Amino acid sequence: MTELPDPAAIRERAAVLANIRDLVGDKGWIDSADGMAPHLKEERGNYTGTAAAVVKPGSVAEMAAVLRLCNGACLPVVPQGGNTSLVGASIPYERFSGIVLSTARLNRIRDLDPVNNTMTVDAGCILQTVQQAANDADRLFPLSLGAQGTCQIGGNISTNAGGVGVLRYGNMRDLVLGLEVVLPDGRIWDGLRGLRKDNTGYDLKQWFIGAEGTLGVIAGAVLKLFPKPRETVTALAAVPDPEASLRLLSTLQRETGGGVSGYEIMTRVSLRMALDHIAGNRDPFDRVHPCYQLIELTGQGADGSLRAGLEEVLERAMADGDVRDAVIAESEAQGRALWRLRESISEAQRFEGASVKHDVAVPVSRVADFIRVATAACEAAVPGIRVVAFGHVGDGNIHFNMNQPAEGWTHDGFMAEQPRFNRIVHDIVADMQGSISAEHGIGRIKKAELAHYRAPLELDLMRALKAQLDPKGIMNPGKIFG
Ligand SMILES: Cc1cc2nc3c(=O)[nH]c(=O)nc-3n(C[C@H](O)[C@H](O)[C@H](O)COP(=O)(O)OP(=O)(O)OC[C@H]3O[C@@H](n4cnc5c(N)ncnc54)[C@H](O)[C@@H]3O)c2cc1C
Repeated sequence: MTELPDPAAIRERAAVLANIRDLVGDKGWIDSADGMAPHLKEERGNYTGTAAAVVKPGSVAEMAAVLRLCNGACLPVVPQGGNTSLVGASIPYERFSGIVLSTARLNRIRDLDPVNNTMTVDAGCILQTVQQAANDADRLFPLSLGAQGTCQIGGNISTNAGGVGVLRYGNMRDLVLGLEVVLPDGRIWDGLRGLRKDNTGYDLKQWFIGAEGTLGVIAGAVLKLFPKPRETVTALAAVPDPEASLRLLSTLQRETGGGVSGYEIMTRVSLRMALDHIAGNRDPFDRVHPCYQLIELTGQGADGSLRAGLEEVLERAMADGDVRDAVIAESEAQGRALWRLRESISEAQRFEGASVKHDVAVPVSRVADFIRVATAACEAAVPGIRVVAFGHVGDGNIHFNMNQPAEGWTHDGFMAEQPRFNRIVHDIVADMQGSISAEHGIGRIKKAELAHYRAPLELDLMRALKAQLDPKGIMNPGKIFG
């Protein structure tokens, strides 16, 4: 027998939604299909969901009142920033009857303290706006990633975003000094402290960083700023293999006093795709090489010493056989063109059929082993497969993608094998004490993999924290686990 919805529950839900609507007013309420559409689908089209409404509070107090109402009525909430999540974390499920809580209207830079080197911002500030504000104050906010014109600080914190500067500046976790969080029951935790030292019990902010909106809603943050680099040198080195890349990294770190701010590897297949499919890309070398290393150094000198140091290291590495050829950008435009080669790989992959993607991390010392062992395993499993391996080698984080063979496979047939491919790659990662999600989180896409690879005790501890902070389970239900 089909259970009929309880009329009293339906009335209560309608009353709570009406209260929320009154609270946030027209500016903060969207319930038309057209208006909600951009909030209910992922850009790549992998996920679409439903919601009773998209709610955009205009202040932290309003956001707290909305959560209090939702908690009282057990109405589920999906927090949303720029909706750029690559793991389906910011999209509600298909038969979701709760609200999407957008931070888009909380977009004020509250304070910039050049002596403390901190900026206090609303969670809804766009990452690029924060970078620009730091730049205007002759400072650097170093988080930098492809979605920076759209993603918001609250989303960056909730996914512990990484990007291209992690080697030098760390992940978002390392860039946050304080947080303001609205808890599921509507209480506001004010932890907006800009302290470099604070040993007063548990570090509560860490609970919310990387929590993907499952424990509360981040409303504001104190971010770390850094001196703006005076000199940037960008180069591309052709290397014989990933082992040579790692040796070159050690030398560069030693010789530049930690001046390496970007270190991105690209295998030949990866670069070839970027060259074949993205207009304007050009191979800087006359010959084909097995592997390429993008290098960015930054420093304060502005006297050319950084470039001179790099030239010296590259010359020595050429003599030792670790570098086969190299180009150093002569201008900002040339530097950007080198970065574009790396940044256009994901897009280029789309032109070569289906691809199963893995965003994994291993200890830096195991990166070369990982690429070698995992590539061999995939090629043995699927003859003709094109392994596209690239990424943040200096952080031990490789985007290890598998493109369907040029012949003999359909798109859907290849994608249907995703669980088998995941197992092959993730087992190798686990053997190397690595992580199945280096940057993008768990969301919807990697829940089964998390449950498979994390120890039961770790999962128990995560669930205990969730139960303590969100006993009614209203926050982003069904994400990470469940
Ligand atoms: C083109 C592209 C390139 C990328 N490159 C990188 C990269 O190099 N490195 C990297 O690490 N990542 C990368 N990413 C992923 C990126 O870091 C995340 O998509 C981004 O940080 C999420 O921010 P957002 O505002 O869009 O959050 P959303 O996508 O809206 O949300 C992401 C998660 O955070 C939660 N959330 C959002 N705001 C809040 C809040 N205020 N409080 C609580 N929970 C919240 C959501 O519920 C969801 O679980 C890339 C993404 C794209 C599209």
